[in-house]
Amino acid sequence: MEKPRILTGHRPTGPRHLGHLVGTLDTWRKLQDSHECLFLVADLHVLTTDYAHPQRIAPNIHAVLLDWLGAGLDPEKSAFVLQSAVPEHSELAVLLSMLVTVARAARNPTYKEQVRELGLSPSVGLLAYPVLQAADILVYKARAVPVGQDQLPHLEMAREIARAFNRLYGPTFPEPEPILSEVPRLPGTDGRTMHTSYGNTIPLGADPAEVTAKVLSMVTDPARARPTDPGHPEVCQAFVYHRTFRPDVAGPVEDRCRRGGIGCVPCKRELAEALVEWLAPFREIRTRWKGREQELGEILRQGTRQARPLAQATLAEVQAKLGLR
Ligand code: SF4
Repeated sequence: MEKPRILTGHRPTGPRHLGHLVGTLDTWRKLQDSHECLFLVADLHVLTTDYAHPQRIAPNIHAVLLDWLGAGLDPEKSAFVLQSAVPEHSELAVLLSMLVTVARAARNPTYKEQVRELGLSPSVGLLAYPVLQAADILVYKARAVPVGQDQLPHLEMAREIARAFNRLYGPTFPEPEPILSEVPRLPGTDGRTMHTSYGNTIPLGADPAEVTAKVLSMVTDPARARPTDPGHPEVCQAFVYHRTFRPDVAGPVEDRCRRGGIGCVPCKRELAEALVEWLAPFREIRTRWKGREQELGEILRQGTRQARPLAQATLAEVQAKLGLR
């Protein structure tokens, strides 16, 4: 029996971080056995916010591939696809953009957040980001997309576009279903949404000194002046990480904190040590793949070759329905 196809991916904005691992990569790894997975390196999407620094894209693609491999994504089971090497993504996005009003695109929560947080003067490309995202999914007629609860609005746009197209031109696209991640999003070290641009992430390939520095900078209970003051772990970012990465000791950590049995610095040092150990495989994979850029590139080319005929078939169908060919 054919496995249902899923499409998901990352923007190559830099090395992956703990938020990617908890929120997405762990889920993707598990889905590889039950689904036909297309993992998209969404380089075109990078340009929506970082168009002034194209030289960063190639090294970031390399970093993303390393972290994907480190997280257990397997190119023998799944296709790693380079978005810009499949021009059908862009062409389908142009065609689908006719079905989306400017007001609808502007309601996208990510668009609003990026404009607010990054102080961007938004470009047309950024506004149209969700349409390109819809094209990424629909060009492969993906049945499902793994998403977190907060990403549901993005998927809804793809579903709306699929419905609108099917209504106007006849059944063409399946409405992609969400595969909801049950794991809540990991906040950044400063308590905001974890985002590479905000500088509040812990990269998966970080060395022990960087991990320790990031953990020690975490926001804790601001009401605690002395190590013996009773703490409130529910307002502490370090505790979120204890709970996520050390679930077996979260109870005792909480207890110690509430009764003022430990200071925040030693508590965070314990967390840092645990995370350093936890991230050892990601550092190891960097060592193993050092100097093998060609092989890494071939993994991406191979996956892209595998995926492109699917996209070409969809685009040809869409063009025919729109009277373009
Ligand atoms: S003791 Fe630990 S859990 Fe409690 S506030 Fe400090 S860092 Fe957070």
